[in-house]
Amino acid sequence: MNLIVMKFGGTSIGSAERMRNVAKIVADAHKNVKPVVVVSAMSTVTDLLLSAANNASNGRKSKTLRDLERLETIHLNTISDLNLGDETSVRLHESISGLLSELGNLLDSILVMGELTGRARDKILSFGERMSIQLVASALEADGIQAKPIEATKLIVTTDTFGDARPILEESLTAKTKINKLTSKNIVPVVTGFIGATHDGITTTLGRGGSDYSATILGNCIDADEVWIYTDVDGAMTADPRIIPEAKTIPELSYAEAAELSYFGAKVLHPLTMVPASLKDIPIRVKNTFNPDAPGTKISNRKNRAKNGCKAISSMNRLSLITVQGQGMTGVPGIAAKVFGTIAAQQINVLFISQASSEYNISLVVRHDDGEKAVRVLREAFEAELARRNIESVKLEENLAIIAVVGDNMQGHPGAAGKTFSALGNAGVNVVAIAQGSSELNISLVVNQTDVPVAVQSIHNEFKLAGRER
Ligand code: ADP
Ligand code: ASP
Ligand code: MG
Repeated sequence: MNLIVMKFGGTSIGSAERMRNVAKIVADAHKNVKPVVVVSAMSTVTDLLLSAANNASNGRKSKTLRDLERLETIHLNTISDLNLGDETSVRLHESISGLLSELGNLLDSILVMGELTGRARDKILSFGERMSIQLVASALEADGIQAKPIEATKLIVTTDTFGDARPILEESLTAKTKINKLTSKNIVPVVTGFIGATHDGITTTLGRGGSDYSATILGNCIDADEVWIYTDVDGAMTADPRIIPEAKTIPELSYAEAAELSYFGAKVLHPLTMVPASLKDIPIRVKNTFNPDAPGTKISNRKNRAKNGCKAISSMNRLSLITVQGQGMTGVPGIAAKVFGTIAAQQINVLFISQASSEYNISLVVRHDDGEKAVRVLREAFEAELARRNIESVKLEENLAIIAVVGDNMQGHPGAAGKTFSALGNAGVNVVAIAQGSSELNISLVVNQTDVPVAVQSIHNEFKLAGRER
């Protein structure tokens, strides 16, 4: 029987009724495959945990307690709504109350210390998934499936980069034996998404939205046949359905296309989800929990090229453009290296680079929250050049967005760039910058954030992504 990792996101398990729906999906699958379930925290829970952690570190005791109470209400109400019978309800109530009091103690110590380290924050955030696995496992049991909640801190070894940890696959080999032990006895493991632990056992998180990544990490470790990611839409779509309501589900994507889309803002998958799957050629399917019979999107190593080059458009808001400019930069070796070295030394992630062929300027895009710092360190690094006027300015522009138009062989497709720019021109959208020499897979450009809906809509229409009728 095929071994399948089935991941359910926060909305998919957001209430007792939704957990019952998930149990039904797993029970159906269980007839034909061996499922290994991975779940997120219930919707809003990770945000509440983050809020509690921040409130505690700022000494706001009553707000911290209010967050804690809301977390308690969500989970305890769900237990009673699950209608599991007295014995199970009492047991579940005890285990959730135990976790909540552990969380309360942690928050108390943060209130006292007035300081929140990355390590403490990750520990606090881990409680969402640690609670949800208990509830989902019980919902499965109520549907007649033997299930066991497992914390991924015992399965996935990661680096100690708190808040953004990376798996160390070669140190996570025991995961396979531990999972096999259960599946061979017909027990469905219900594993926490989002978290792991360093080899010293310290809890880490994989970054927001990281449960998708957990699913493929686990899939890789246990040599799963496929990873199915259940979310609240019919699959990966031609554009963010919140911006373009007529966006269509994409039947097939390559790993590279899916990675590109999610890297540039398509929230449906964590950007690193494709990495562990592609290492072992494990297909990923994105499916809708609320419409499980729909075919969804299959992501694999197969290249299935779109007729006109473009498969989907994604966008990313809250960005800043930094431009280092000056005639004296022309032909001076090492300026670009110094720009990027300076930024990298501050651990600031550069999302987009563009250099005019005249070499008069170098532009780069960073997240809004990194913008001011990036400009400050660049001005310090180039103090001498600025004084000599070899560099005229280091400029910051805010409230920008990147739009990525994605498809395998996009740039090799004659006319794809032309279509993109004429669509934007006709829609009156001002293009602030264009990426040069980026991957073959996308054309990416910078626009004002307020232009995003019009820009995405016009490109979506131009490539007829909503269907032939347009
Ligand atoms: P989950 O809780 O299941 O992980 P997320 O909220 O993280 O779900 O991701 C699913 C959401 O991603 C969808 O509801 C949709 O609004 C958004 N989204 C953005 N871009 C896309 C896209 N190109 N295709 C599908 N969904 C997208
Ligand atoms: N619960 C985590 C978050 O909200 C991880 C996830 O949902 O994927 O970011
Ligand atoms: Mg998600």
